[in-house]
Amino acid sequence: MTGYSVNGPRLWSRLKDMAEIGASANGGSHRLALSQDDEDGRELFVAWCGNRGFAAVFDKIGNLFVRRAGRNPAVPPVVIGSHLDTQPNGGRFDGVLGVLAGLEVLETLEDFAIATEAPVEIAVWTNEEGARFQPAMMGSGVHCGVHSLAETLAVTDASGIPVAQELGRYGYDKGIEPGSRAIGSYLELHIEQGPILEQEDKAIGVVTGGQAIRWYTLTLSGEETHAGPMPMAMRRDPVRHLAAVTQLVYRIGLADLDARATIGVIEMRPGSINVMPGQVRLSVDLRHPDEAALERMHDTLTEEIAGLNKTAEGLDISLEQTWHSPVVAFDAQLTGAVRASATARGYAARDMASGAGHDAFHLAKVVPATMVFVPCRDGISHNEREYTAPEHVQAGANVLLDVALQMAGAEVVAGATA
Ligand SMILES: [Zn+2]
Repeated sequence: MTGYSVNGPRLWSRLKDMAEIGASANGGSHRLALSQDDEDGRELFVAWCGNRGFAAVFDKIGNLFVRRAGRNPAVPPVVIGSHLDTQPNGGRFDGVLGVLAGLEVLETLEDFAIATEAPVEIAVWTNEEGARFQPAMMGSGVHCGVHSLAETLAVTDASGIPVAQELGRYGYDKGIEPGSRAIGSYLELHIEQGPILEQEDKAIGVVTGGQAIRWYTLTLSGEETHAGPMPMAMRRDPVRHLAAVTQLVYRIGLADLDARATIGVIEMRPGSINVMPGQVRLSVDLRHPDEAALERMHDTLTEEIAGLNKTAEGLDISLEQTWHSPVVAFDAQLTGAVRASATARGYAARDMASGAGHDAFHLAKVVPATMVFVPCRDGISHNEREYTAPEHVQAGANVLLDVALQMAGAEVVAGATA
């Protein structure tokens, strides 16, 4: 802790003003990536930055970078980032908080005329949500070399509009090459989007990393037949075994408190009231913050599905893994600095893994990175009811300020008070 603190009411009023752009009927925000509302929100943000003398630079995928110079321009900046796009009728805090808290950190450095050795910079990543264009975390993914620019520009939304066309409409095609902007270390403040901090009355989540994820397609194949003439005993009916596979998935998910198991899609083919389906396909999403524990869940699922396949007569029950995202581990020095800041300021904190994906996951592949979580009411997010209390908004921004000052090498004036 440095003796400096952010201006909480200023940050709170900016959150309120940003929420008016693309305001939705029930108190949320609707700014789909690269829509006019998204662009209007970005322009408001750039104008706020300009008022304090910070110019914005953009790249060809529309990521924005806003820098406050350090003493040594040769040192790569400490970057504070997140996103301004929202889900359809989404909340006022998801992503927006991280960006506006970054601006609040820069303004606080200005307010107290604090010189830093390294520059401190804000990054606004394009299309984090993945609601209009897939994949999610698009801008940070291109910046970090996870997705190619050419392939990403060709992605279209549901009405066939390509990413390139929308970027060109706002002039982002004239930006710098993605990935060319150096980053020394990366910090992201985000609402938890889950209930744990609120339940435990903690103000700060020290995010140590992200859960490992495995996705599967589980297929039960028999043979479709008319609902009437075929006797039950002669049917090759995959639905009869549906309960056994869903119970298996839930048993795996309920075996340990940190485990998650989700069946998000069930498809019956052909899907007609008087046809016994010939095939049932399920999606399975397994997650765990511990890679070895997720592997055990994987082994149980694989072995027990193989066992069911042997005993289910006339049926073929198969499991195909379609995706594996390993555990993301954040930088120990940065998470240590988050923990130390919370302790010094008297904020109740706990370590936790992120259950959702964030831009910081891509950044962690290329630079030291970490995240700070703050509680959100009832754990609700991607919803117009999303809410984080002003004191938690301020606490999160203060932690960002402390860690940014430490990483950027601030010269703290003796006896300075906030
Ligand atoms: Zn977000």
